Amino acid sequence: VSQPNIKELDASKLTYTFTKEPREVPAPGVFNLNDQSICTDHMITVAWSAKTGWKTPELKPYGPLSLMPTASVLHYATECFEGLKAYRGFDGKLRLFRPDCNSARMVMSAVRISLPSFSPPELEKLLLALMAVDGPKWLPRERPGSFIYLRPTMIGTQSQLGVQAPSEALLYLIASYMPAMDSPAGGMKLHTSPDDMVRAWVGGFGYAKVGANYGPSLLATQEARARGFGQILWLYGREGQCTEAGASNFFVVWKCKESGKTQLVTAPLDDRLILDGVTRRSVLALARERLGDEVEIVERKYTIEDVLQADEEGRLVESFAAGTAYFVCPVSVIHHRGRDVKVPMGKAGESGQLTSQIKGWLRDIMYGGEDHKWGVVV
Ligand code: PMP
Repeated sequence: VSQPNIKELDASKLTYTFTKEPREVPAPGVFNLNDQSICTDHMITVAWSAKTGWKTPELKPYGPLSLMPTASVLHYATECFEGLKAYRGFDGKLRLFRPDCNSARMVMSAVRISLPSFSPPELEKLLLALMAVDGPKWLPRERPGSFIYLRPTMIGTQSQLGVQAPSEALLYLIASYMPAMDSPAGGMKLHTSPDDMVRAWVGGFGYAKVGANYGPSLLATQEARARGFGQILWLYGREGQCTEAGASNFFVVWKCKESGKTQLVTAPLDDRLILDGVTRRSVLALARERLGDEVEIVERKYTIEDVLQADEEGRLVESFAAGTAYFVCPVSVIHHRGRDVKVPMGKAGESGQLTSQIKGWLRDIMYGGEDHKWGVVV
């Protein structure tokens, strides 16, 4: 119910203050990890308070935020975020991929941790506004096929230690360089999660993109990396349900034991254990629409034992992780309790046939090879 004194988020009120100290765009091809800390020239901030609602959105030079040490986010993890990319197409256009999905998911996450809601299309408009200003410089026309990572974030800023829903918050949008991570050479190597750790649980908040889901996952990832693996395959429950791979959704392609049919399988959204990934959704939708009867598309609970058995019986065809950061990334190895499952990677040792096909469809939509409603032109 709208209250006249409480203002809604309104992107049309955006004010512009341009930087006087333009930042340098890294040269192509020289990505190093430090480049991930490079953000574009501008950011957008919008403050909120329970008393007055959303304030005027401001586009301004990228720079530090000012927070009191007692700010809610610093103590009670009242933080949520989104991640999506802006792409410079091979047709010269700048696009966002399904920003409506990220905007809606941001509201869902915010509400889960008592941060304020807003109308999702307003966030979408702010994302487009930031890219309209910084996109042309940071994703120049001469660099088709490049992308930048957009990170809308919301934090509770109320400076009071009482444990309560914050009465003040800040929504901010930044755009960051990110090295191309979509294809680690030789595929993604997964290590199953330690027996004494879960990423999410029934009744928890694994389905929300809140910072509180990520910090506690870093220890397992760090240990797996020290042992030569890239990401954790998060298992759940005594039976070891496969849920997600690092910060991506996880897919396997196998021949069904009973029917012998090829199936593309991924964990379901019920039980709210996994994030409803935009890439996951898009993979499922395109596969259902375009693969016809050759492949069954299955969202269901399945366990690591099912994967091991498919491997033993020669039924495991392919596997990939799907998410904004790693895109559609073939999985080459799954390590579970001392055992390495080698997943077929296709002839060129790059990715299997189905993985490549799905990747191609999505890439075309992102970079303008196919005109599609999911590719929103800036
Ligand atoms: N799972 C988790 C836990 C994630 O953090 C992400 C990245 N947002 C994904 C899956 C993939 O989601 P998306 O395709 O929307 O990037």
